[in-house]
Amino acid sequence: MTREHYDVVVIGGGAGGIAAAVGAAKLGAKTLLAEKYGFLGGTATANSVLAYCGFFTREESPRQLVGGVGGSVLEALGALGIPVQPRRTAHSGTWIVILNPEALKVALDRVVTIAPVDVRLHTTFVDAQREPEGVTSVRLYGPSGLTTISAGAIVDASGDAVVAAALPDGISGASCIHSRNAASLPVRIGGVAPDATFDRAILEEALRESRQRETETVRKGGGFITRLPGSTDIWWLGIDLEFDANDPGEMTAAEQTARSRAWRAVEYLRHRHPGFEHAFVSSTGPGIGVRESRHPRARLTLTSDDLFEGRQRSDGIACAGWPSELHVHGEQQYLGVGGAGYFHVPLDALRSAAYENLWLAGRIIGADPIAYGSIRVMGTAFATGHAAGVGAALQASRTVVDADAIRMALRAQAAVLEA
Ligand SMILES: Cc1cc2nc3c(=O)[nH]c(=O)nc-3n(C[C@H](O)[C@H](O)[C@H](O)COP(=O)(O)OP(=O)(O)OC[C@H]3O[C@@H](n4cnc5c(N)ncnc54)[C@H](O)[C@@H]3O)c2cc1C
Repeated sequence: MTREHYDVVVIGGGAGGIAAAVGAAKLGAKTLLAEKYGFLGGTATANSVLAYCGFFTREESPRQLVGGVGGSVLEALGALGIPVQPRRTAHSGTWIVILNPEALKVALDRVVTIAPVDVRLHTTFVDAQREPEGVTSVRLYGPSGLTTISAGAIVDASGDAVVAAALPDGISGASCIHSRNAASLPVRIGGVAPDATFDRAILEEALRESRQRETETVRKGGGFITRLPGSTDIWWLGIDLEFDANDPGEMTAAEQTARSRAWRAVEYLRHRHPGFEHAFVSSTGPGIGVRESRHPRARLTLTSDDLFEGRQRSDGIACAGWPSELHVHGEQQYLGVGGAGYFHVPLDALRSAAYENLWLAGRIIGADPIAYGSIRVMGTAFATGHAAGVGAALQASRTVVDADAIRMALRAQAAVLEA
């Protein structure tokens, strides 16, 4: 088996992992980013979640909450001709940036190459080795087989907390909070007339008609639907399913059921929705999008009070401004952020309670169910990932790791820490 050493190893190439790897590499750390698929982007590209949320506050004239690596990604998308000006959603008053998945893959390749990060695609985390307090190495499976990589610090940015879950005491309590966040299968639809407008009653009816069992959820109002930039495709986010994403049998059944529902729903729209006469399923997923799976044990857990009060902290290393968005039995609820419209994520929410050199990035930082509904969005995942990467790089270089040092390094990399 091959053996290598890196200062920082980041597992997972979604928003959190990309920002962590770039942030660490920019500080001079020898950094490896391992991603199990053949492209970066995480949920955006692997599950067609094609809107960046959390970059801006919710008010009429929005303030930018995420800069740094997240900002570089928007610039790289803009350079490919994809408009990145945010647009306001009618249903929640939030600001989002709609994505083109193929442009995003290219933009992300460029951002990590410039840093420079050593990227390994088609490379899956297998397990981790540890000493009492720290993680010493990880084992990865890639095109050449198994490789053991020792590292000064590890960032778990896998969304599913695969590193924390592989270590004793890495994970907290029950693995999944089903009632708050259903999973969804986004669908891209081709062949829709360019001037078609969307009828929510027919969309909801299509979701109802697509069910195989009456217990399956129907998203009220027919879900979220929009045109994609740089494409003639429509993006439709309406097929919800509630199941345990950590159970292999349930996960497989959910993929199959959701795919079948997508097919039936588009067939229904073809016959009933004006402008959809030539519509077809252009793509699903590739996989079903799981909003919540596992929660590692963090040193600090953000709470609903942080969100409702818009709590600011002197050890804040990221700004979170997306309202808590909960998906329960077909209903989407938004709980607003108080105070100045954002709350700080403190350093300790990014640190494993069990392992000194294990950093948490993206949707797996310490958060209770209400705070989780906010911090899990991709804009905020870029911000927490950036901070985790910078912290990991400082730790690997044996520099003092505290919030002040991380804030200083983040500011030097154009991160937003106050808005
Ligand atoms: C259906 C749905 C709709 C959503 N809507 C929005 C939205 O509109 N806007 C928004 O901003 N957010 C949205 N979210 C939330 C958001 O997409 C996620 O919370 C966010 O992507 C989390 O970022 P992350 O970097 O932590 O994880 P991810 O984006 O999940 O990235 C994790 C990466 O780790 C990789 N990985 C996992 N295991 C391994 C392994 N063993 N080895 C190597 N690599 C591994 C994965 O392949 C993936 O690329 C939605 C989520 C879902 C599921």
